Amino acid sequence: MMKSPDIVIVGGGIIGSACAYELARAGTRVALVERGELAAEASGASAGLVGPRYRPMSVPMAALRDASYKRFGPLVVQVEEETGQRCGLIRTASLMVALDDASATALHERFVWQQSQGISSTWLSGDEARALEPMLAPSVSAAIRMDGEYAVIAPLLTQRLAEAAVLHGARLYRGTTVIGLPHHGTHVTGVALTDGLLPAGTVVLAAGAWTRFCGDWLGVPVPVFPVRGQIVAVERPPSLLRHVLLAGTGYVAARADGRIITGATEEPEAGFDKRVTVGGMQTMLDQLFTLLPGMRAATFSAAWAGLRPGSPDGLPLIGPLPGYENVFVASGHFRGGILFAPITAEIITALVTGTAPPLDAGPFSPARPRLLAPQRSLAGTTG
Ligand SMILES: Cc1cc2nc3c(=O)[nH]c(=O)nc-3n(C[C@H](O)[C@H](O)[C@H](O)COP(=O)(O)OP(=O)(O)OC[C@H]3O[C@@H](n4cnc5c(N)ncnc54)[C@H](O)[C@@H]3O)c2cc1C
Repeated sequence: MMKSPDIVIVGGGIIGSACAYELARAGTRVALVERGELAAEASGASAGLVGPRYRPMSVPMAALRDASYKRFGPLVVQVEEETGQRCGLIRTASLMVALDDASATALHERFVWQQSQGISSTWLSGDEARALEPMLAPSVSAAIRMDGEYAVIAPLLTQRLAEAAVLHGARLYRGTTVIGLPHHGTHVTGVALTDGLLPAGTVVLAAGAWTRFCGDWLGVPVPVFPVRGQIVAVERPPSLLRHVLLAGTGYVAARADGRIITGATEEPEAGFDKRVTVGGMQTMLDQLFTLLPGMRAATFSAAWAGLRPGSPDGLPLIGPLPGYENVFVASGHFRGGILFAPITAEIITALVTGTAPPLDAGPFSPARPRLLAPQRSLAGTTG
């Protein structure tokens, strides 16, 4: 049986599971504590789309995104090999579409920007896009095609990461709620569970939209907040959908489980309510029919919602919790937690084990002043 863990991670979503995997691979004794099932929250609801950088974003976000994207495919293959289980990974391409003249102009500006950055993409007329994707609506007037899109079944990837962590010696506690963070001065001694203390030398807070409550236990603001996202899934018709379709902040994609999903709403006003609403479903189905009119005859499969962990300035929180010497935060990944999991896990592992992080994590510090002077911006991700 494992001695007291060196490191306890709070939260068994994609971020906690990826951190557990990297920390276990680095040779630490790590425990992953999840109050429900793995991927029970945002990571289970996720669309699982991961693509290359396709629009302008801040320098730190571009660096984080490029570094994580580069690691994503190899990481999935690695955990599939280690666990002998698949994650429903599809390698595909995306079509970013315009539905009217104004959006075609904006889309073309983005294409010009992509070319200036050396990003590989192709400009298509509406007819050229339909030649590649025959189900596409006649109203699509232009598109940008980009290779390098991944679609993964996010709950499967989360489970595989945790299973692979266990293969490397991690211990997994499911159905186990952390209720406090006992500490002496600036030193946290472990995590409090309903039936006692799990001692730890270091604690990583990866509790998704609930991470701010962990900060509350220590009197430190961790301003992560929930942003509901709703998705509708339909059974895939016999005709193929070859590309992930991107329109504005929405998307339509085929998945390895035989379904087509249309997502996702962005509803911070819903708070911690993760119920599906008829209005949310209608918005997502309108989007589906606008892009693929033939889908009106599709069979309904499911609808679900999840709570993304939002952050006030749109950047994730990755780094030491201010005021405490042995607590780290890995949260606030908003619409990009699946994409950002590989690099987040590497940064956290480096910080915890005292080695150099793969990139400058300063801009993502939970102590950054911008966090407390909110100005909301999207992270430039799909989900
Ligand atoms: C509809 C939707 C679509 C999305 N699509 C994409 C996409 O296509 N691509 C992409 O990159 N991202 C996407 N995202 C975003 C991505 O899913 C999230 O950023 C990511 O899942 C966040 O992972 P997490 O581990 O931080 O949080 P979560 O997955 O929410 O995990 C946190 C875990 O902590 C646990 N927990 C909380 N408190 C405690 C406690 N006290 N004790 C023990 N456990 C606790 C919770 O039960 C939960 O399992 C999408 C999100 C949604 C909702």
